[in-house]
Amino acid sequence: MNTEKDIFKEYLMERGLKFTPERDAILEEVFGKHEHFDVEKLYQRLNSKGKHISRATIYRTIPILIDSGLVSEAMRFMDRIYYEHTYGHKPHEHMVCTNCGKVIEFNDKRVEKIIEEITKNHDFKSTEHKFEIKGFCKDCQ
Ligand SMILES: [Zn+2]
Ligand SMILES: [Zn+2]
Repeated sequence: MNTEKDIFKEYLMERGLKFTPERDAILEEVFGKHEHFDVEKLYQRLNSKGKHISRATIYRTIPILIDSGLVSEAMRFMDRIYYEHTYGHKPHEHMVCTNCGKVIEFNDKRVEKIIEEITKNHDFKSTEHKFEIKGFCKDCQ
């Protein structure tokens, strides 16, 4: 199996882009643990590890990571866009607490099945979908 780094390097090479130390650090941070992050959070995580990468560089790198198929937009919440690494991570949906921001991932075969049925009924070929529940977590109810 290809690692995310192989895929990213190949993606960049094919487009004549460089695999810079900054891009490397961002990739490693994003794949270091599975988390839902926005640009600010990623910026702070990198900074706390002594990796001083500008927000502008992160803003420019995220679309590249998305386009290379390694990262996806997970959700939009309070005017912020949250991303997550999806390569190597099993498909899932999200529940978001609008009070504390907690995110719960869930996976239910029935959701997949319903989407499959609905798209089939419309002769539609789905490439991605979002099934998101917003509300209050146990602690915030
Ligand atoms: Zn909550
Ligand atoms: Zn997720």
